[in-house]
Amino acid sequence: ERLSNDFQFMEVSRKGPEKIAAGVRKQQFAEIYEPFRPKEASTQAHRCLECGNPYCEWKCPVHNFIPNWLKLVSEGNIMEAVELSHQTNTLPEVCGRVCPQDRLCEGACTLNDGFGAVTIGSVEKYITDTAFAMGWKPDMSNVVWTDKRVAVIGAGPAGLGCADILIRNGVKPVVFDRYPEIGGLLTFGIPEFKLEKSVMTRRRQIFEGMGIEFRLNTEIGKDITFQQLLDDYDAVFLGMGTYTYMKGGFPGEELEGVYDALPFLISNVNHCLGYEKDPSEFISMQGKKVVVLGGGDTAMDCNRTSIRQGAASVTCAYRRDEANMPGSKNEVVNAREEGVNFVFNRQPVEVVGEQGKVTGVKVVTTRMGAPDANGRQSAEVVEGSEEILPADAVLIAFGFRPSPAPWFADFNIGLHQDGRVDASAQPKAAGRFAFQTTNAKVFAGGDMVRGSDLVVTAIDEGRKAAEGILDFLEV
Ligand code: FAD
Ligand code: SF4
Repeated sequence: ERLSNDFQFMEVSRKGPEKIAAGVRKQQFAEIYEPFRPKEASTQAHRCLECGNPYCEWKCPVHNFIPNWLKLVSEGNIMEAVELSHQTNTLPEVCGRVCPQDRLCEGACTLNDGFGAVTIGSVEKYITDTAFAMGWKPDMSNVVWTDKRVAVIGAGPAGLGCADILIRNGVKPVVFDRYPEIGGLLTFGIPEFKLEKSVMTRRRQIFEGMGIEFRLNTEIGKDITFQQLLDDYDAVFLGMGTYTYMKGGFPGEELEGVYDALPFLISNVNHCLGYEKDPSEFISMQGKKVVVLGGGDTAMDCNRTSIRQGAASVTCAYRRDEANMPGSKNEVVNAREEGVNFVFNRQPVEVVGEQGKVTGVKVVTTRMGAPDANGRQSAEVVEGSEEILPADAVLIAFGFRPSPAPWFADFNIGLHQDGRVDASAQPKAAGRFAFQTTNAKVFAGGDMVRGSDLVVTAIDEGRKAAEGILDFLEV
C-alpha cells in the first residue's frame, strides 16, 4: 500500500529494481535489471519532494517534466504519465536505461544530499514499458498533415528525435540508414546488457505506425546521391554520428590482437543478432587475457562484453584515477561485480608483441596534477614506473572524432576546424534557423554537431533541429 505522507523519502529509502546476480548475468547478453513492479514504482516515485524549482528537470538535457510524471506514477496513472513523458522525449524507455543518471537528473535530485536520489531513470523506463504492454500508442488523430517531406540521414537518436517532431507536426520524414536496423549506436554499439535490441524493434513498429518511413541498408553517397535527396525533399536532416576512432599514437597499435572498440562491439552485435555475413567477422575474446584501454562508456562496454564472451581475464587500464573517470559510475560498479579488474593511474606507452602478435601493454604510472580549464585533473607521469600488463588481446576505447562525409564540401555544408558540422544551436542566430547548416536546406544535430556525447543530447538536438526545419518550411 502506498504511504500517503509527504515525507515518504524519510521512511522509504531509495531502491532501484533488482539486479540479476553477477554470476548469472555475466553468462548472457541480456539486460541486468529486473523491471520495477507496479508497487515498487509507485512507492519510489512517491519519494519525490516535488521541489518548487526542480533541479532534476534543469539538469535533464530534454527537460523532462520529472516531478509531474513521478506524481502520476505514484497515483498509478500510467496513461497520463506516458503522454507527458513523450512531450519532451522521443525515446524515454531508452534514456531510462542508458542515461548516466548519476551525472544528470538523479545527480541533481535534492534527496541526493544524504537520503538517496529518486530512481528517476528506472521510473521513466517503467512508464513507457508498462504503457506499451497496456497497448498505448501515440495519438496522431489531431495531426494536420502538410504536403512537406523531409529526408533524414541516420536512424540514430538524433535522426529519430527529428523524425518524431516532424511527423507530429504533419511533415513526412523518410529516414535513411546504411544499417539493417534503426537505432544507430543504440543498436550497433551499446550492448544488450544495457539495452536489449527488442526495445528498438518495438519502437520501430511505433514509429512506423505513426507514419515515419525507414529506408534501411541504404547509404547516402553510395546507394543514393545527396543531390537526389535535395531534389526530392523539402529539407534534409543529417544525424550521421561520429565514427573516426581515436588512436593512442604509441608503437604497437598495428599488432595482431589489437582492436578498435566499436568494430569489436559491432561484430558481437552482428554475431548475436544474426547479421554476420561471414563467421570470420566475429572478434571473440574467449579464453584470452584482455586489456581494455580507456575509461568511458565504450571501455566499460568492451570490458563487460569480453567477460560475457568468456575471456580468461579482463583488465581495464585508465590513465587518471577512479574519481576522474568520464563514464557512468554505475557502469564501473557493474563491471567490477562481473569480474573486471581496474588499474587506475596507468598510461599506455606501447603495445608490445612477439612475431607480430600482441603479448602485453607497456604502461607508466601517473599521479593526478592540477585541474585543467574544465576542472579535470591532468595525469602526470611518474619517472621510472614502467611495467607490462600481459595481454593476448587489446581493445582501444579512446573515443571518437568527427567523420564528416567527403561530399559535404560539394554541397556547401560547412565544418568547424575539428570536423564537426557547423549548425547553430541558437534559433535565428546569424540569420540561421535552429540547427541549420551553411546550406539553407540542410540541418544537422547529434554527435556530428556536438562531438561524441550522449543519447539524450542527440535526441534533444534532433528535436530542436526539427523545430528549425518547421520554421524554415513555414509549417
Ligand atoms: P549515431 O547513434 O551514431 O547514429 C548515426 C546513424 O547514422 C548510424 O545509424 C549510421 O549508420 C547512420 N549513417 C551515417 N552515415 C550515413 C550515410 N552516409 N548514409 C546512411 N546512414 C548513415 N550514450 C549514453 O547516453 N549512454 C550510454 O550508455 C552510452 N554508451 C555508449 C556505448 C558505446 C559503445 C558508444 C560508441 C556510445 C555510447 N553512448 C552512450 C553515446 C551515444 O550512443 C551517442 O552519443 C549517440 O548514439 C549519438 O547519436 P547520433 O544520432 O548523433 O549518432
Ligand atoms: Fe534523467 Fe536521462 Fe530521463 Fe532526463 S532523459 S530524466 S537525464 S534518465
